[in-house]
Amino acid sequence: MTELKPSWIVYNSLGRPNVKETEKVDGYCMVCGTHIKEGVPQKKSFSGNFTNWDKLQRLDQTHVCRACYFCFKQNWLRNYSFIAGERRLALYIAKNIPSTIDDQYTIVFRRRNGLLDDLFNIRSLKNNIFYDNFIFCINNSRKHMIFRATINTNPETFIIQYGDTELLLNTKTFKKVYVSLQELYNSGFSKRELKTGGYKSHKIMRYGPKKIGEHEMILEEKRGSVVFNLMIDLLYKEKNG
Ligand SMILES: [Zn+2]
Repeated sequence: MTELKPSWIVYNSLGRPNVKETEKVDGYCMVCGTHIKEGVPQKKSFSGNFTNWDKLQRLDQTHVCRACYFCFKQNWLRNYSFIAGERRLALYIAKNIPSTIDDQYTIVFRRRNGLLDDLFNIRSLKNNIFYDNFIFCINNSRKHMIFRATINTNPETFIIQYGDTELLLNTKTFKKVYVSLQELYNSGFSKRELKTGGYKSHKIMRYGPKKIGEHEMILEEKRGSVVFNLMIDLLYKEKNG
């Protein structure tokens, strides 16, 4: 059995769309290294300004597998955050479904402001989206994240591909941080204050110095870590009523 690759998880999750450009070949995918019997020639796969040659698995090969080729061509996979299992892909969007996405794909659309909650509730997402293996990509640049992503199986501790960076999120360790950040943000503290710990004194007085102190016990230990900063970026205000 061949090893599952992130590009194949995404490709499978979208219903294995047809790729017309393939031809017969016996070799390995240049990008992911999967053994292939058909593939898209190198020339058709990479544009002239492709520079990530060092990221390819098999530079000695001549073709790219259907899954990698397909993922390469989907710009929207670079511009949005998503979680993909083998049977579904959930895409995080602000409001409207982007018109660049072909409506033949059965994508689950989720609100971007719910992304942080989802990170801590993969297990319930799992029941809705049906997967065992999953990859989680959060965009912060216009680079393809799939090819670097790590395949996860544990809904409580998993690796997020955050742009170029890999982040390990242990949801048990960060659960209290998540709750504190959400509470303080909803109580009027800004992202900047939470990031630095430099709270405005009038806000401390209004909220209660003792309560702030309790939250700080939890926050100061993790402050400055990449995961901490990502969580702050993903905070959103809960709607009142
Ligand atoms: Zn491939």
